[in-house]
Amino acid sequence: MPEILTQTSEEISVELKPAKAKPKPGKLFIGGEFVNALSARTFETRNPATGEVITEVAEAGPEDVDLAVRAARKAFEEGNTWRKMNPRDRSRLLWKLSELIRANAEELSELETLDTGKPIFESSRFDIPLSAECFEYYAGWPTKIAGETLANSSGGEALVYTLKEPIGVCGQIIPWNFPLQMLAWKVAPALACGNTIVLKPAEQTPLTALRFAELTLEAGLPPGVFNVVTGFGPTTGKAIVDHAGVDKIAFTGSVEVGKAIMRGAANTLKRVSLELGGKSPNIIFADADLETAAKFALGGIFFNQGEMCTAGSRIFVEEAGYDEFMSVLRGRAQKMVAGDPLHPKTRLGSLISQEHLDRVLNYVTIGRNEGASVSIGGERIGTKGYFMKPTVLEDVTNSMRVAQEEIFGPVASVIKFREPEEGIREANNSEFGLAAAIWTRDIKKAHLMARRVKAGTVWINTISTTDNAVPFGGYKSSGFGRELGRAAIDLYTETKTVWVDLNG
Ligand code: ADP
Repeated sequence: MPEILTQTSEEISVELKPAKAKPKPGKLFIGGEFVNALSARTFETRNPATGEVITEVAEAGPEDVDLAVRAARKAFEEGNTWRKMNPRDRSRLLWKLSELIRANAEELSELETLDTGKPIFESSRFDIPLSAECFEYYAGWPTKIAGETLANSSGGEALVYTLKEPIGVCGQIIPWNFPLQMLAWKVAPALACGNTIVLKPAEQTPLTALRFAELTLEAGLPPGVFNVVTGFGPTTGKAIVDHAGVDKIAFTGSVEVGKAIMRGAANTLKRVSLELGGKSPNIIFADADLETAAKFALGGIFFNQGEMCTAGSRIFVEEAGYDEFMSVLRGRAQKMVAGDPLHPKTRLGSLISQEHLDRVLNYVTIGRNEGASVSIGGERIGTKGYFMKPTVLEDVTNSMRVAQEEIFGPVASVIKFREPEEGIREANNSEFGLAAAIWTRDIKKAHLMARRVKAGTVWINTISTTDNAVPFGGYKSSGFGRELGRAAIDLYTETKTVWVDLNG
């Protein structure tokens, strides 16, 4: 995690800028055109920080999804524009998309903050630039995707090689917590490999995906290669999963929906990759740099209001370092002030909805009833928007619901352990396995523990860092398939084996 995230509001300098975003009514983006839903139905997207309606967005039904899939299929199978585009030109297109994201970064940051309630500090320094970087990273790939020539023992002489081919039409269903970034993680590698896409943004946060759709026109992406259908999960999302014309589903979201998607996709044997929830342990050994560990632990759980699948939401602290670590954590958590997400100094924004706030607050009650103590926060802030105080629960044991269930909000459950063996055992005692952090000055212990943690990512003396070149994904109920880096090229290609008989 970048050092900047450990700073408090007083420590950052900012500049107030006039707003650039002018959200307009959203339409579906199908075959390179913005269209209304065939039913003409729309739904509202709201600003969580105020509860006010930002704009109306078209609600896609199965018939609209069908049109989008057909457009994507046509762009994949027919014509010369996408199918025959050479890798160099595909590379340039991806680079152009990254340039357009950068050129419109202020507007995109504002749209993201309006739609999600996250601080503009975060959307302008992380979400939007990292999305642009993702397209830059995958712009390098089209010219480097390659098969292999293989030794074989088939008896006679044969040449055997593999081709890496695009899968076809990819249905991509993404959540509301990092809307443009989740789009980038899925769209950039899928395009790099030559697929076509039907994307469904979360119903809460459709705005940046629709603005991105405009940018694909500006970049010159052929019509039908990228389509956006806005709407709800059980209708629009399900229609994508059920559609026989979709070859692959890439999903990020809840475990429950991930399971439903896997079941649905089984009917047509779609390829599936799932990035689901987490309950990531952040393990602090007493021999760590405790002050730094505490500062980073704060970002690990409170960044994006804790609405992160990687949130370091179970903080395991070795008894001998407990008091020192906790005094820094408590002190700094108390200083985190929530405020208008559009104000550049705000470090804690609004949760996504009333329903979600209620759910998160209910976990505080559940924790109390289970015997945890609320040492910081635990309450809603004000009555407008869905703001909540950064919350630290102490006296938590790993078997409590607040330690086992994903809360997806600004709630840290702190668990004390006596010796390393106990810490690692308890850390692994979870349904999830997305990420874990380990803090220690003992390099041997750090690496040995990293091997033993059951998680797709292990951070040593840092937390919450991702990089477009580095694979990301989960063990256990956190899903399967690895996004980012070279790993995503495998997610978006089929391997074809070609045998050539060379016998005379
Ligand atoms: P969260 O709990 O973060 O809202 P969800 O898993 O509910 O996560 O939603 C993530 C994405 O999955 C959203 O775009 C949502 O609309 C979509 N979704 C929800 N239910 C379904 C479903 N049954 N089939 C397909 N997509 C769905």
